[in-house]
Amino acid sequence: MALIVQKYGGTSVGDAERIKNVARRVAASRAKGDQIVVVVSAMSGVTDNLIKLSKQIMDQPPEREMDVLLATGEQTTIALTAMALLAIGIPAVSLTGAQAGIVTDGVHTKAKIKNITPKETHRLLDAGNVVIVAGFQGQTPGGQITTLGRGGSDLTAIALAAALKADLCQIYTDVDGVYTADPRIVPGARKLPEISYDEMLELAGSGAKVMQLRSVEIAKKFRVVFEVRSSLNDNPGTIVKEETPSMEEIVVRGVALDKNQSKITLVGVPDRPGVAARVFNALASGAISVDMIVQNVSHGSGTPLTDLSFTVDKPDVQKARAAIDVLKADVGFQDVAVDESIGKLSLVGVGMRSHSGVAAKMFEALAKEGINIGMISTSEIKISVLVELSKGEQALRAVHNAFLG
Ligand code: ADP
Ligand code: ASP
Ligand code: MG
Repeated sequence: MALIVQKYGGTSVGDAERIKNVARRVAASRAKGDQIVVVVSAMSGVTDNLIKLSKQIMDQPPEREMDVLLATGEQTTIALTAMALLAIGIPAVSLTGAQAGIVTDGVHTKAKIKNITPKETHRLLDAGNVVIVAGFQGQTPGGQITTLGRGGSDLTAIALAAALKADLCQIYTDVDGVYTADPRIVPGARKLPEISYDEMLELAGSGAKVMQLRSVEIAKKFRVVFEVRSSLNDNPGTIVKEETPSMEEIVVRGVALDKNQSKITLVGVPDRPGVAARVFNALASGAISVDMIVQNVSHGSGTPLTDLSFTVDKPDVQKARAAIDVLKADVGFQDVAVDESIGKLSLVGVGMRSHSGVAAKMFEALAKEGINIGMISTSEIKISVLVELSKGEQALRAVHNAFLG
């Protein structure tokens, strides 16, 4: 008998029919004699609508209240999924994150899981039930409701699979697996049979929202092999696992476009020791994560001045500005410029470690389309560039075509 964790995303539980479809699939897996834990997201659009609703009440709602609000999305789905199973004669019990023993830190709206005590889940499974756990949510040791960041149901599933020592972890979604690019933007994108944790991490961190970034970090840390596949057909999906030697033969595994970042530039920053530390410490204290960072060569006489640009997630822009404005008098920079019309285009592949000329080919593909490159950053297995947001999809297709077409 195997223990299987299956996660169903928003579209897969998008209406009553889809929830019944999930119940039928779960019943079919259970009929093979396995124990099944199901993690579900909010029905598609629900989390976005709750966020919109909150903004109609106040501009910057307290994050604690946001968590209380957003956790209701998944709580709706667990009950409906349990009912759909009960309706076809399968014993099922729903659990909120707290009831499933998911304990997090207190960073509201992006809490990190500290530990999971799966005692109740094991007890219910051993009694013959399918256990339905609410994704995306947990509870602090003090009993506050928290959420795990957008897309966080993936994290619930992976972390539960690790805590339960599950034999199999399946992420069911609305595409057949992980593709070489978002198949909704790049029609020629191909499904990958397998991908390494590191490549999946870089793609997830570059805007390929098929898996939440943090969930892949946890999968890598606890060596949870998982499969991304469709809830609407039985096609084999994509296996995400430790890198194998043959993976290096492929130079570029995939490309991604992140439309959810903004660029902040501090203009005329005094170029002296400690300034960058102060700026990024202030951002870190606000739990604002910074992605690309570029500092220019300094100019001017006396204390030379430089410009410092970095990108943050769009929803963090106001918080980031507030944290920086506090520093202005103290650090003595001249101005702050915010550019929300950017897209980050990334090329990912472990094969880049052993192949040269990848950056040149990428820049050439963009030049041919007349697309200008803003900031550039690289890692061992990734090259990212900023482009104008309005040209992002065109850029994604051009680069995909050059390497993977
Ligand atoms: P779920 O609600 O199941 O969690 P998401 O909407 O979060 O699903 O993620 C699935 C979506 O991710 C797909 O519909 C697809 O548009 C998008 N996506 C982006 N990049 C990729 C990629 N490289 N491969 C597959 N899907 C991708
Ligand atoms: N409902 C949450 C969101 O929309 C979590 C998830 O779907 O994974 O971000
Ligand atoms: Mg998702």
